[in-house]
Amino acid sequence: MSVTGKTAIITGSNSGIGLGIAEELAKAGANVVLNSFTDNDEDHALAARIGKDHGIEARYIKADMSKPDECRALVEQAGACDILVNNAGIQHVAGIEEFPMEKWDAIIAINMSSAFHTTAAALPVMRKSGWGRVINVASAHGLRASPFKSAYVAAKHGVVGLTKVTALETAQEPITANAICPGYVLTPLVEAQIPDTMKEYDMSREDVIKNVMLTRQPSKEFATVEQLGGTALYLCSDAAAQVTGTTISVDGGWTAM
Ligand code: NAD
Repeated sequence: MSVTGKTAIITGSNSGIGLGIAEELAKAGANVVLNSFTDNDEDHALAARIGKDHGIEARYIKADMSKPDECRALVEQAGACDILVNNAGIQHVAGIEEFPMEKWDAIIAINMSSAFHTTAAALPVMRKSGWGRVINVASAHGLRASPFKSAYVAAKHGVVGLTKVTALETAQEPITANAICPGYVLTPLVEAQIPDTMKEYDMSREDVIKNVMLTRQPSKEFATVEQLGGTALYLCSDAAAQVTGTTISVDGGWTAM
């Protein structure tokens, strides 16, 4: 089964890992729907560029993944959904006592609940077309914890649980649901954590990268967005038809420890 002509919706895909996955799926012939909460000319220009580069249909649809109605409307507006990649995510780093309540709510909504809403809207579409792939971008933090990341770790563990339930509810259909668990990937999300982590640990930027981030990653290398795109493509392949309800770590050995 090739992804040629399939439609992939990738949430949070005007940057970082989501954009990397969109590029790999487009390169393999899928039509892609890009998404974020903004509606800038650059967002639409990005979709146009990807469409042109890979000779596929690419669209940008604005939808705020912190809002349940907009999550569901994204799938409706796309009109088709063979591959759903739940990728949108944010981070905030603080101890539990200082963790701002609104940040907790936003992280739970965007990083976890959005995947429930888009999946609920996408499953009927996949059942109708007779094929589907749900790919949730969780994290090594869906399998392991770190201090100062309570909301993120809780949300990502929740996404792994949701992935298993989605897989069980679709187990006898040509639909699979899996979670990709990246270790550290140098995207804008990770860049943004560096100053706060420098403060929490009283360290330089170089020390945070080497001694906080990559200290958990035995390979001592960041994973790349292209590698994550390749993993998503594998999950769409025939070889992965019986791979469901599981996690695939792309973390340089982090969760082997
Ligand atoms: P990023 O900041 O580059 O991308 C996040 C994307 O989500 C952006 O496109 C952003 O516009 C979008 N987004 C944010 N809030 C949104 C909202 N309310 N509605 C719609 N879209 C929204 O970050 P990234 O590192 O590419 O992260 C992508 C995913 O990968 C996240 O779920 C993140 O938790 C996960 N992840 C990242 C790493 C890493 O090291 N970078 C590791 C493990 C997991």
